[in-house]
Amino acid sequence: MKIISSVAEMQKWSAEEQKVGHTVGFVPTMGALHQGHAKLFVRSVSEQTRTVVSIFVNPLQFNSETDLAAYPRQLEKDIAIAEEQGVDVLFTPSHAEMYPLGFSSNISAGPIASHMEGLHRPGHFDGVATVVVKLLNAVAPTVSYFGEKDFQQVAVIRQVVRDLNIPCEVTSVPTVRDQFGLALSSRNTRLTAEHLGQARQIYILLSEIAEKCRTHETFSSAVKDRFTTELPAVTAATVEYVEVVDSNTLQPAQIASNGTTICVAVWFGDVRLIDNVSIGPALA
Ligand code: AMP
Repeated sequence: MKIISSVAEMQKWSAEEQKVGHTVGFVPTMGALHQGHAKLFVRSVSEQTRTVVSIFVNPLQFNSETDLAAYPRQLEKDIAIAEEQGVDVLFTPSHAEMYPLGFSSNISAGPIASHMEGLHRPGHFDGVATVVVKLLNAVAPTVSYFGEKDFQQVAVIRQVVRDLNIPCEVTSVPTVRDQFGLALSSRNTRLTAEHLGQARQIYILLSEIAEKCRTHETFSSAVKDRFTTELPAVTAATVEYVEVVDSNTLQPAQIASNGTTICVAVWFGDVRLIDNVSIGPALA
């Protein structure tokens, strides 16, 4: 596996690969890699001739210095994980490479980024959109891969890629969970053992609620009430938001029915976790 840290070298490598007819799959990450990331790598490796993974902890998308400083970093382990999955290039630009002195442009993601994560983390999606556009311009991939765990993020990226005519397909990959249903996240390593056990209730409760919505017409307000009451009743969690949105447009839905997704953000101590479950078509 090749490690590239300059934008110019990354662009050159990608252009040469594509000149000889290779397709390039791309997975942007912030490192602290786990099996959720690995699933995206495997998908790209199986579908594209070449796969590039980037590792860059993007300060623009963090809302607090403390969260940025506490974000886990483990480059040696990350290199081993990426290599194991057959990744061809690890792109690891420095802060100065991404945001050199005088950098001043920003992408504003618009209304799709204004509720849920966007509302509770002001500026977050502008930071995400800006770094993803920069990374896409560096890697120039044929297809980029994003996880459905970050449900709104995928929608924001699709919007930006479409709006700015970026010639890259956006593919989403289902959420990878641990054996008890907890969505894998780099932030899980910061949970105490007690909170880790309790955090598994997020998916258990979301799945129960979604199952009920599949068979009984349920107002979104009832979904919100149930999650906000029941999760803190059995765990130390503080619920930041629960929203039921149309799975395609991400607009708030009044009824939690087929074609909608329940999205949540909860806190365990100083660790913030997000998850979502699509209600989807009724189970046969
Ligand atoms: P991050 O390093 O957290 O920025 O994530 C990089 C990419 O991996 C994003 O597209 C995430 O949505 C995706 N990802 C993170 N965790 C998971 C997971 N548990 N399952 C699937 N994709 C994930």
